[in-house]
Amino acid sequence: MNKKNPQHLACFDLEQWASRRKSISRSLLKWYHSTARDLPWRHSPDPYRIWVSEIMLQQTQVERVKDYFHRFVKKFPTVFDLAEAEEAVVLKYWEGLGYYRRARQLHAAANIIVSDYEGIFPQDACALRKLPGVGRYTAGAIASIAFDLPEPILEANSRRVLARLIHYDTPLSGNKDDQPLWDVAGAIVPRDGGAGAFNQALMDLGSVICTPVSPLCEECPLAEHCEAYRVGSVDRIPNVPARKSSKKIKEKAYVFTHKGKLLVVRRQPGEWWEGLWDFPRDIPHQVAARGRHRHLGVIDYGITNHKVTCQIVSKLISQRPAARRHQRWLSPQEIQKLPMTSPGRRIALLAEKSFFRES
Ligand code: SF4
Repeated sequence: MNKKNPQHLACFDLEQWASRRKSISRSLLKWYHSTARDLPWRHSPDPYRIWVSEIMLQQTQVERVKDYFHRFVKKFPTVFDLAEAEEAVVLKYWEGLGYYRRARQLHAAANIIVSDYEGIFPQDACALRKLPGVGRYTAGAIASIAFDLPEPILEANSRRVLARLIHYDTPLSGNKDDQPLWDVAGAIVPRDGGAGAFNQALMDLGSVICTPVSPLCEECPLAEHCEAYRVGSVDRIPNVPARKSSKKIKEKAYVFTHKGKLLVVRRQPGEWWEGLWDFPRDIPHQVAARGRHRHLGVIDYGITNHKVTCQIVSKLISQRPAARRHQRWLSPQEIQKLPMTSPGRRIALLAEKSFFRES
């Protein structure tokens, strides 16, 4: 709360926001119905499709999600198809989207929906939140968009809109400290139909009008309600703390080759990219020293807040050791069919070129 400007106190008055609910939703929905983005998951209120899209949209841009969404729902058109699939196949259809925990949780949740709810999505946000990977935002999105329940949502775009609307200048945490924003979102979401459209409209507004830099306030349907606009502090709100600088890491990846096969390893629980395949890292010195080796190249990649520089070394092995559990000796063609980490896929391409030169 801005203690220097007592007039802002009113902005946290939920009754005041609730009393403006009809006026806000009328203006916002009028704008939305004339400008709504045509997104593939908006073509049907099927909770399965909405759920898949919402999980994909966590951490990933809309444009990037579109193709993945099409491929995913074509391969797994219903929650039953997804539940029946092997996890490796689900990961393969997620390959390249990143944050693979989302895919594993989606798969686990599909199994729960089939086993505990006979394949029918529970129609309340509390039950939805018990599913793996479904947090407060996703539960609110499914409940409001699929079932038109008056549940609030808060994600990056609507958080910015609401923070400006109520002049919320507290540093955003993305978590429980944003409770005042959740409260306002709950106060203004329509009670008598249209909650799903309203929530999607808030997200669209944040995406195309109430942008992080230079918002188009003159074109905004909520300008008359917006406290940050009224007092001229739009460029200071939301108060987003500076991101921590990323940590630099160096690593070595090994491409062991033997008679046209390459050694790949499956990432284990607790590792980045759990469940996906990759090339060995951090192997014992005596193993790394074996066989003829060649420098294949260097790749850079980012993961969480790490910047990784990975040196790739190819090793031609004369005697192939037996593959351990979670390891396989495979041809480049077989590797193509595996769900691979993104650096693993890049290493596989480099190795394939090199492999043909070596054999
Ligand atoms: S008036 Fe400006 S700051 Fe306020 S909600 Fe609209 S675009 Fe955002």
